Amino acid sequence: MAKINKAEKYVYFFGGGKADGNESMKNLLGGKGANLAEMAGHPKLRLPVPPGFTITTEVCTYYYDNKKIYPGVLKAQVGEAFAKMEKLTGKKFGDEKNPLLVSVRSGARRSMPGMMETILNVGLNEKTIQGIIAKSGDERFAYDAYRRLIMMYADVVMEKANGVEIKNGKGIRKILDEKLEHIKHKQGYASDTDLTVAELKDLVKDYKKTVRQVLGMEFPDDPLEQLWGGIGAVFSSWNGKRAVEYRRIEKIPDEWGTAVNVQAMVFGNMGNDSCTGVAFTRNPGNGENEFYGEYLVNAQGEDVVSGTRTPAPVNEYSKNEQSKHFTTLEKMMPKLYKELFKYQEQLEKHYKDMQDIEFTIEKGTLFMLQCRVGKRNGIAAVRMATEMHKQKLIDAKTAIQRVGPNQLVELLLPMLDPKAEQVNSVIAKGLPAGPGGARGRVVFTSNDAVEWAHKGEKVILVREETSPEDVDGMHKSQAILTTKGGMTSHAALVARGWGKCCIVGCGEIEIHSETKSFRAKNGATIKEGDWITLNGTRGLVYQGSLPLVAIELDKNQSYNDLMKLVNKTKVMGVRANAETPGDARQGLKFGAEGIGLFRTEHMFYGEGSEEPLFMLRKMILSKTQKERTLALNQLYKYVKKDVKDTLIVMNGLPVTIRLLDPPLHEFVPHDAEKLHQLGKELGISMSILRRRVLALHENNPMLGHRGVRLGVSYPEITEMQVRAIMEATAELLKAGKKAFPEIMVPVTCSVNELIHQKAIVEKVYKEVCEKTKMKKIPYLYGTMIETPRAALKADRMAEVADFFSFGTNDLTQMSFGFSRDDIGGFLPNYLDLKILKDDPFQTIDQDGVGELIKLGTERGRKTKPNLKIGICGEHGGDAESVKFCHRLGMNYVSCSPFRVPIARLAAAQAAIESPRK
Ligand code: PEP
Ligand code: MG
Repeated sequence: MAKINKAEKYVYFFGGGKADGNESMKNLLGGKGANLAEMAGHPKLRLPVPPGFTITTEVCTYYYDNKKIYPGVLKAQVGEAFAKMEKLTGKKFGDEKNPLLVSVRSGARRSMPGMMETILNVGLNEKTIQGIIAKSGDERFAYDAYRRLIMMYADVVMEKANGVEIKNGKGIRKILDEKLEHIKHKQGYASDTDLTVAELKDLVKDYKKTVRQVLGMEFPDDPLEQLWGGIGAVFSSWNGKRAVEYRRIEKIPDEWGTAVNVQAMVFGNMGNDSCTGVAFTRNPGNGENEFYGEYLVNAQGEDVVSGTRTPAPVNEYSKNEQSKHFTTLEKMMPKLYKELFKYQEQLEKHYKDMQDIEFTIEKGTLFMLQCRVGKRNGIAAVRMATEMHKQKLIDAKTAIQRVGPNQLVELLLPMLDPKAEQVNSVIAKGLPAGPGGARGRVVFTSNDAVEWAHKGEKVILVREETSPEDVDGMHKSQAILTTKGGMTSHAALVARGWGKCCIVGCGEIEIHSETKSFRAKNGATIKEGDWITLNGTRGLVYQGSLPLVAIELDKNQSYNDLMKLVNKTKVMGVRANAETPGDARQGLKFGAEGIGLFRTEHMFYGEGSEEPLFMLRKMILSKTQKERTLALNQLYKYVKKDVKDTLIVMNGLPVTIRLLDPPLHEFVPHDAEKLHQLGKELGISMSILRRRVLALHENNPMLGHRGVRLGVSYPEITEMQVRAIMEATAELLKAGKKAFPEIMVPVTCSVNELIHQKAIVEKVYKEVCEKTKMKKIPYLYGTMIETPRAALKADRMAEVADFFSFGTNDLTQMSFGFSRDDIGGFLPNYLDLKILKDDPFQTIDQDGVGELIKLGTERGRKTKPNLKIGICGEHGGDAESVKFCHRLGMNYVSCSPFRVPIARLAAAQAAIESPRK
């Protein structure tokens, strides 16, 4: 046999205790192929994997780069691999007496559950089926396998890969499926396995005829044609609509390509001593360290995932409401269960992570078909990471890297208000596939979910089962509810990956698609558009919209353990953006180490704002300095109290208080009664008042009279605020309390603005020291960097400022020239057309705005090497942006209290990924 040049090696064999590849070769072999090689060939594993081979992802790239043709050497390499498979199995592909059948499956670098294609039983035809019947002694089984092949092949290869347009919304799979359902219905069969041999034979004939009629082509009888058709279809499916959609959502690069795995078939559907199943080395729903899985007797793998039959539990632990009456695998086949249990232990120890396993038992022999790192929701991720660390399976760094910062959001997700659950009755129960609570209006199709969500509706997608075609609608829904399927069904798998609330296998409701409604066990009828609420943690469905409440995170032991590791690892501080004592407390609870942005103006909005707002309005509509000072004096006590209350909560941790920022006209009242009251208070007529209001109008207020510009025009506004801050601090210190304010000037663009404002600050400082008889009141004076010019002139700004805080909301707005309040009109188009990769208001545009931040940081530190630098725009709570800030050497990020845990975790991960010198 000629030696293959490595660059030209496109086929990697595994089987018989050996493998060409291994787990580290995911980029080349895809996740599935690399893990099959590892399971089959690693000396510590050598598990019973049916032999097969992987065609590399390079072939996929080649295929797309070369008008869908393969590298010349591929055919020969596939031929060699087949020869090895045939030797190991003692069977021959296409042989009439002892035929080898194979599966053809996709396998990308990262798992894309159900997004690409699979074809089973390849190699079956009118002749080889005789060999299968003779060998298995089971004609029923042989014809069942044959009808499955025809259905899968027609759907995947003949229809989808050929780009055949579907008429009346009914693809060939559905048409063929209806034929099967018709027989079942006519004969009163409950399950596919009830069909007789004669019925299956007729069905196969009917399938072939239908394929010919609908698709205008014959189902190919030649095993090799089936094989290459299957391989081509898998490659084509990489660019299928749903795979492309899934990649967009999951941010998987288009150029990765998929591998193809061809593997000797083993059959879980060879009778009642055969079965197939999916299991996890730990519970992926809550992270408990228990072997958890489901299986189906006399079935093929797709039956478990598609959710057409409710699977049985592998052991007592895996039992649930729907499956508690089934016999466990442990009881039914104790020896094989023991063997499986041993393998799962071996696999977790080997991979040092929770594994998702597929297995098949064929007539009393166990085969391992797949293993991969299992998807888990956030709650499970945190628990597994910290428990594996305690078990010394992984180190602290690995534990920290195991949790996606956004997965932490799931721990913060609201749950159903237990009080509301007590007084409302459950209309149906299902399996708890995705935790948390969710409410929304019922829709029955993925398209409707997308459309309704587009209009701003909160929807819950209700379906019998979901398929990969539904991903977009599932993504747009608040929650997913299915009537069929188990914890390993497509819906459960996908929801788990996204951390979405989800209930599956809810057999207590019946969907009536004709009337767009469902009927629940308790008799309630829910129509499209009606509200329902789900408790995804317990699998309960309620009618109507029930209130949700926040979860108590600090009671979660695993979360606390993780955060301890995080705190030991991160070097950057994390603060909260908070303006009320309540928010400040929330921030502290989540681990904030200070307040990075206290927006003074919050006190003029919402509850309790009536009085200060009235004073502010008086101040705004004043004409003379005397009028204004009078109003400011009245406002002073409110500002002082507000600042003081938060300083008290923060107890000496830094609190960055920003001077008034928004354009003043935002606060001008529009209703006549309020205007009238103001006129009276100011002692001016309505017509004069109206003129003053009119004079405040600006064409472009975001670029108008706001931020420091207010303080420059009306120094008395700055003076009042600084006095409030200084006096509040002095009073606290005198009372033996701790307080540390940082005064921050917004929307600056020139050092001269900072000099101008600093003079006011210093004057007031002296006065307050004298008044309160304090020698010193600790404080810092700094600026936001939120205009491009401020970033460019950072070296000068740092001459006066003690600290910088990047206001990336405004900085993004002013760098792009995109109004932050009007992006809704055009940004979706920019994202769809990939003109921009991400929304720059959510994640820092590192290429552009990021350059300004980098430059501002460098220039500022050139003037003042120890300049304290942070960020307080929305980006402070976005994991990627936090990591960027770490790399730039910032001292802290600040974000809304609920994002503080995310920022902390991201900061720790950044410290691991890019250690600071
Ligand atoms: C900013 O611009 O990033 C910022 C934090 O200030 P605001 O959002 O209040 O304008
Ligand atoms: Mg701003």
